[in-house]
Amino acid sequence: MGILDGKRLLITGVLTDASIAFRVAQVAQQEGATVVLTSFGRQMRITQAIARRLPQPAPVVQLDVSDQEDLDALAERVREHVDGLDGVLHSIGFAPQGAFDFMAASWEDVSAALQISSYSLKSLAVAARPLMAERGSVVGLTFDASFAWPVYDWMGVAKAAFESVARYLARDLGPEGTRVNLVSAGPLRTMAAKSIPGFEAFENSWPERAPLGWDLADTEPAARACVALLSDWFPATTGEIVHVDGGVHAMGS
Ligand code: NAD
Repeated sequence: MGILDGKRLLITGVLTDASIAFRVAQVAQQEGATVVLTSFGRQMRITQAIARRLPQPAPVVQLDVSDQEDLDALAERVREHVDGLDGVLHSIGFAPQGAFDFMAASWEDVSAALQISSYSLKSLAVAARPLMAERGSVVGLTFDASFAWPVYDWMGVAKAAFESVARYLARDLGPEGTRVNLVSAGPLRTMAAKSIPGFEAFENSWPERAPLGWDLADTEPAARACVALLSDWFPATTGEIVHVDGGVHAMGS
């Protein structure tokens, strides 16, 4: 008996087996869920190959969150595999390289980061809405946007917007019974992390600052928190951010 028995989940963001979303899909299946993945463009074939490494191979549907046609077609594409959804995982982040130079970044770079990393939570929730069951759960992943970090720059601003989008979605989807919550994960060595210049600044300091310690290669703690929020075990929680960072957010230095 698992905490996701009978749940149907749409999981975005599986790119490699280091992706946070891959571990969420794995733990979710182990807990009894039926999983449908999304991917797009040239990454589609990689995601399809990785999907075969899950305990139960999962179907992959096309979704580029910046493509309105994909968003409009999402419900129909997902319905080919499941008759409804109990949960959606948003595990999507992207910013052009220029967005990682705060003072020099162009609006073009910044607007792409905001569209794909912030606005997309609303786009995905709206696209999945026709399929959402009563008491559905939308879960996303953030990197604590309360601070200016040594690196991260406009991606940090995009995460601040993302956290705000989650609260407004919680307001607007709450009356339909849908919860919207985020997991604020500590740094993890994924493809998204590798594209951040200076990511090593986190790699060295985080494990030292975390009272519980922190393993940059272990996506399981963040994945388990996502699975818990996708389950029925947080029935009255929405608009929340759960930190899964070894405790760094609560420390003064
Ligand atoms: P990842 O590179 O494995 O996953 C990022 C995913 O975003 C990829 O699967 C990619 O296909 C997807 N994506 C990018 N553009 C897209 C688009 N236009 N449409 C649809 N999908 C798109 O990296 P990850 O670290 O697992 O990232 C998942 C989430 O976790 C992101 O929101 C990231 O910001 C967040 N996060 C990561 C860390 C970390 O240190 N790795 C820490 C906290 C939060």
